[in-house]
Amino acid sequence: MLDYAGNEINVKGCLGCAYAKHEFVLPTGIAYEDDLFTLSQDWELPILGFFVVSPKRHVENFQELTDEERVKIFEIVNYTINVLKENKVCENFNVVFEEKPNRHFHIWIMPRHEWMKNLVGNITEHIGKVFDYANQNLKTKENLEKIKEISNIVRVAFLKHKSF
Ligand SMILES: [Zn+2]
Repeated sequence: MLDYAGNEINVKGCLGCAYAKHEFVLPTGIAYEDDLFTLSQDWELPILGFFVVSPKRHVENFQELTDEERVKIFEIVNYTINVLKENKVCENFNVVFEEKPNRHFHIWIMPRHEWMKNLVGNITEHIGKVFDYANQNLKTKENLEKIKEISNIVRVAFLKHKSF
């Protein structure tokens, strides 16, 4: 797998578990981490403001989360979106529970950027095209710098927040 900057990630076994154990790192690092979750720029897609919340524990479905984890994951999602909106990264977001058989569960915090609408019209219907476009066109130095900047803004915001 290639990360959003085009670096090869070589991991044996579950990618989500490996990330939780810091067996590989991403160019802009982790924006927030506690003993239950990590929050980072999406690992593969160079889309500004696209964040992933990944459990440290290997779970494959949303229902496998404990009550404590469920509360925490939504607090993280909520605060991340607040910070992204306050910093004018995007006005609207889709939150997706990504469940696939035998795959580490995670939540996507996915911005609905103007350029996506201009590119495909219905973003939800053509999300694959949006992702392909991003992978082919947005791994630019300028965009990766912006991703880094936003990741740092989110990191600092979490550090300042009393509940995290
Ligand atoms: Zn796992």
